[in-house]
Amino acid sequence: MTALVFLDPDFPAGRVADAATAQLSVLDQGVTRGDGIFESALYTDGIVRKIDAHLARLRVSASTCDLLVPHEEAWRAAIATAVAAFDAATPAEEAVVKLVATRGTEGTGHGTSWVMVSPAPELGRRQRQSGISVIFLDRGYDSRVAERAPWLLMGAKTLSYAVNMAALRHAKKLGADDVIFTSSDGIVLEGPTSTVLIAHRDGDTKRLITPTLETGILPGTTQGAIFSAAREAGWELGYGPLTPENLLDAEGVWLVSSVRLLTPVNSIDGTAIARDGQLHAELTAMVDAIQ
Ligand code: PLP
Repeated sequence: MTALVFLDPDFPAGRVADAATAQLSVLDQGVTRGDGIFESALYTDGIVRKIDAHLARLRVSASTCDLLVPHEEAWRAAIATAVAAFDAATPAEEAVVKLVATRGTEGTGHGTSWVMVSPAPELGRRQRQSGISVIFLDRGYDSRVAERAPWLLMGAKTLSYAVNMAALRHAKKLGADDVIFTSSDGIVLEGPTSTVLIAHRDGDTKRLITPTLETGILPGTTQGAIFSAAREAGWELGYGPLTPENLLDAEGVWLVSSVRLLTPVNSIDGTAIARDGQLHAELTAMVDAIQ
């Protein structure tokens, strides 16, 4: 069951609605143009994890898209109402809390915003244990596009995920589980729904590296939380640019995201990726401790 709560000025705690029946105007620009933004957070053990980071990124996405969205207190109230409704109806160990804000129905001048809570997909949970096979796919633009073309909304979490989903379908057709996008100039970007992390060990020195945000990728809240924990634990941290060869030479490659958490990559384009068990265990412990 999915719990659904609209943000509505007439309902300070949010307006509960039925996710199984029609709720949205066919004229909403979120539907007609994919014009809107979203966040996906993990709800587990009674906590919506990293909620501050998600609300902060929602604010940045809104500003990048010139979108007016409700203030933070309204989101927090609607999230509390939605998780309470979810808990009352559906006992689930892990759930996805999705925040959505669209540009609303054309001509009305106000947007549409809602919170949905639904059970987390089983597959992602299994892949944390099993690991995944990945292919590199060309994202079709170069790694400097963000500074050159701000209208492409690089780095904002917009609703326009059709390309990301098409890339995943393409991978499935080729027998792979997931994708790592590369730029047309050969730089590693991100997964369609995840951030790339790689690790190296040199004696006692442990080093964690993620692609640079200058490539226009989404700033991952999970990567951010893992980097904070790793810094505390004495790891060295680095920000790309990374090449495909850097991944193949690493002592571990992971795709990380709020809902899937830490997923080890077993192979890329059929080439086995090393996995240092101790590095993996330490990173898993850091991810498990994220609040
Ligand atoms: N990059 C993209 C394109 C994503 O869609 C996501 C999450 O869905 C991420 C990275 C990871 O972000 P986070 O760790 O904040 O979930």
